[in-house]
Amino acid sequence: MKVDYLIVGQGLAGTLLANEFYRQNKSFMVIDNPDQSKSSAVAAGLINPIIFRRMTKSWLVDEAFPQMESAYLQLENLLQEQLYYPVKIMKSLSEDDLNFWKEKTFANKLESYIEVEPDLFFENANIKSAFSFACINTAGRLDIQKLISAFKKFLSQQNSIRNERIDYEKLIIQPDSVIYDNIFARKIIFCEGPSASENPFFKNLKFKHSKGELLEVKIPELKLNRIVSDEVFVLPVGDDQYKVGATYSWDKLNHETTDSAREELLSKLGKIISLKPEIVNQKAGIRPTMHDRKPVIGLLPDNPQIGIFNGLGSKGVLLGPYFAHQFADYLNGNSDYIHPEADIKRYFKHK
Ligand SMILES: Cc1cc2nc3c(=O)[nH]c(=O)nc-3n(C[C@H](O)[C@H](O)[C@H](O)COP(=O)(O)OP(=O)(O)OC[C@H]3O[C@@H](n4cnc5c(N)ncnc54)[C@H](O)[C@@H]3O)c2cc1C
Repeated sequence: MKVDYLIVGQGLAGTLLANEFYRQNKSFMVIDNPDQSKSSAVAAGLINPIIFRRMTKSWLVDEAFPQMESAYLQLENLLQEQLYYPVKIMKSLSEDDLNFWKEKTFANKLESYIEVEPDLFFENANIKSAFSFACINTAGRLDIQKLISAFKKFLSQQNSIRNERIDYEKLIIQPDSVIYDNIFARKIIFCEGPSASENPFFKNLKFKHSKGELLEVKIPELKLNRIVSDEVFVLPVGDDQYKVGATYSWDKLNHETTDSAREELLSKLGKIISLKPEIVNQKAGIRPTMHDRKPVIGLLPDNPQIGIFNGLGSKGVLLGPYFAHQFADYLNGNSDYIHPEADIKRYFKHK
């Protein structure tokens, strides 16, 4: 079988890149290991355009947000599933926060994303009252798990996916192509999420993954139709269920859930709501992240048949479509631009 691209991994990154190839009429095959934990299987899918700690816009948000909306709407249409939910975020503010928020909203030109009003009263009797709430108007969530499973089905229907683990040793690299089993591809693009740190082709890259845990809870009386954020977020997903997250840790990078994360999340949730949640599930995953927290995109300088699309970190839902589009355009010769801060070349400066 001859294809333009062989994609390794069908998490969020592999899905978005395969979709771009599909849209640009390029042939491709995806190989995805179904027995491996995916970051995308754990992610809450929250889309937040603001970095609350610093009160700045999230990196590239002005360009990435419209690109994201159009990509997920196109995928909804292709897969005939609702995937993207615009939802406002209510951020609780103390009296001190309020002045800081007002000042930074103006200074950092956040007005198109945020309303900060001292008397903006968020009415939900089960949310503990804060001094005030700011409303992030342009926010939402993606049902990542539904996207991945619906896209997998679509790929199966097109005979474009093999469910197995790729064995690096079986990959034959030729001057202008790669061969894997019976697949002849012009290029192979690795979208392996956190396990890319074990890929021998990417030894030069500096990964700094983080572990995250979240809770899925049921709270029938809460009746919340917005995301509420304080030290954790409470994100409504329907049927009286909510995702509460997330924790961050950089040691013990495994997929085990822990008592300490559960207690931390419950205690932070208890500062937001006065009701007792029923825990439906606890999940742990690893965010694929680079040392400088920017994605990594591009082809190996010495082996341009081999590429990578990774490092989406905690902003995969927002940044994924923007970079998938940019990378596909680059690979297909429509553009020669990769954002310099995301370009793999930053790890090969000496070349
Ligand atoms: C607790 C938690 C909460 C999160 N919440 C959010 C959120 O609210 N919003 C947000 O934007 N992001 C969030 N994220 C981050 C988000 O999950 C990631 O940005 C995104 O899912 C990364 O997707 P990926 O495709 O790069 O990696 P993955 O989803 O890990 O996919 C990699 C795929 O590659 C496959 N694979 C790997 N190696 C091989 C191989 N050798 N052969 C074959 N297949 C292989 C794996 O099986 C897997 O399917 C969260 C992450 C965590 C852990």
